Amino acid sequence: MHLTQVAPTGSMAPSGRLPANLQQFEARFSTEEGCRAYLFQLRWPEGFRCPHCGSGKAWAVRATLFQCSNCGSQTSVTADTRFQDTRKPLSLWFRAMWYVTSQKNGASALGLQRVLGLGSYRTTWSWLHKLRRAMVRPGRGIRHFGSVGGNDRTGIPEQLSVATRAKADARVLGYLGTA
Ligand SMILES: [Zn+2]
Repeated sequence: MHLTQVAPTGSMAPSGRLPANLQQFEARFSTEEGCRAYLFQLRWPEGFRCPHCGSGKAWAVRATLFQCSNCGSQTSVTADTRFQDTRKPLSLWFRAMWYVTSQKNGASALGLQRVLGLGSYRTTWSWLHKLRRAMVRPGRGIRHFGSVGGNDRTGIPEQLSVATRAKADARVLGYLGTA
């Protein structure tokens, strides 16, 4: 097993402007690495923190799995998200979340199927419903997914704090449930 020490605080935080369109979104989230870095930042905005002992030091066992250097417990960056057991790439989920949260007049299963290039309408339909359930206050305010570190070019009201945006994204990802 090859262990790599987790990058220090802040260095995994996505930088730059918030994606204002699909092209920019793809540039940031088209790789598994980009998606993972984003999940890491949402989960641990101030750097890794072991949920069991509170230690800030960990090793990356796999790309998404971290082992605490202090107590040895393992935490996945996708644990408790809607796609913790998914076999599909994170980038596909991210693209789906982007699509569903950016359609002003509501996303359709057919539209989602086209955007994702999925063969199965049934699968697409189930994804759409999972994501819809995860969305906060549809039609009010926060629509775009991926808004942490955002700016004013997204249609998201500027008065929303980064923390509020992070919470909205976390809800879509399933960290905070559907409440
Ligand atoms: Zn620990």
